[in-house]
Amino acid sequence: MATISIRDVRKSYGKTEVIHGVSLDVADGEFIVIVGPSGCGKSTLLRMVAGLERITAGTMEIGGRVVNDLEPRERDIAMVFQNYALYPHMSVFDNMAYGLKIAGKTKDEIRQRVDQAAAMLQLEPYLDRKPRALSGGQRQRVAMGRALVRNPAVFLFDEPLSNLDAKLRVQMRLEIKQMQRSVGTTALYVTHDQVEAMTLADRLVVMNAGIAEQIDTPMAVYERP
Ligand code: ADP
Ligand code: ADP
Repeated sequence: MATISIRDVRKSYGKTEVIHGVSLDVADGEFIVIVGPSGCGKSTLLRMVAGLERITAGTMEIGGRVVNDLEPRERDIAMVFQNYALYPHMSVFDNMAYGLKIAGKTKDEIRQRVDQAAAMLQLEPYLDRKPRALSGGQRQRVAMGRALVRNPAVFLFDEPLSNLDAKLRVQMRLEIKQMQRSVGTTALYVTHDQVEAMTLADRLVVMNAGIAEQIDTPMAVYERP
């Protein structure tokens, strides 16, 4: 678990500033959902927390440590992407184990962590399969498993459910919330789906044109008279 502190963060591409000074304090174990129209900067903000985009100005802290100049792998985060980014030629087990192998974990530890994540995500029967032999929901679970085994302080989700049909989206939404609750990991979650935002968020960040217009509970944001 970790706190996240975003202080007057800006991002420019060339001469065009697309994030105009966003500040946000996230508590340990909090689930923050970032919403707003297409192009408002949700994904850019998340990618800056991940370290996939450099911040142009301001300060970003994860777990009390300034991460402005840290690579993604030096930050205590794991990201779940919209397109899952699974390795097609690897089994489910190897997909989940890959990052741990690269990080030099022992075989025993890898086996233990993957088994634990597979149990939590009901993936045990599928560990030997290739991604192409899985349903959309199962692939999404593998992507979550890959983040989970890393045991990160922060989960970052970039529209993880947008490739799923409506029914599965509801189910996976519940599973994501359960997983986050049971491990207690701080989460930042980007979506354009209002229902997803309302059901998942402890607090919402409503972005518009590169600004965090409102930061408040779903109740306060959506049920304001
Ligand atoms: P959202 O995730 O809310 O749809 P983005 O964060 O993807 O919005 O984009 C925010 C703004 O930054 C948009 O105007 C987009 O065109 C611009 N942008 C995003 N990535 C780049 C890039 N690599 N180069 C230039 N402009 C970009
Ligand atoms: P390294 O120092 O080699 O990057 P890491 O443990 O940080 O070691 O990451 C190992 C590999 O795991 C990375 O090279 C990357 O391919 C993969 N990886 C990184 N982030 C994620 C993630 N969120 N989910 C799944 N795999 C990831």
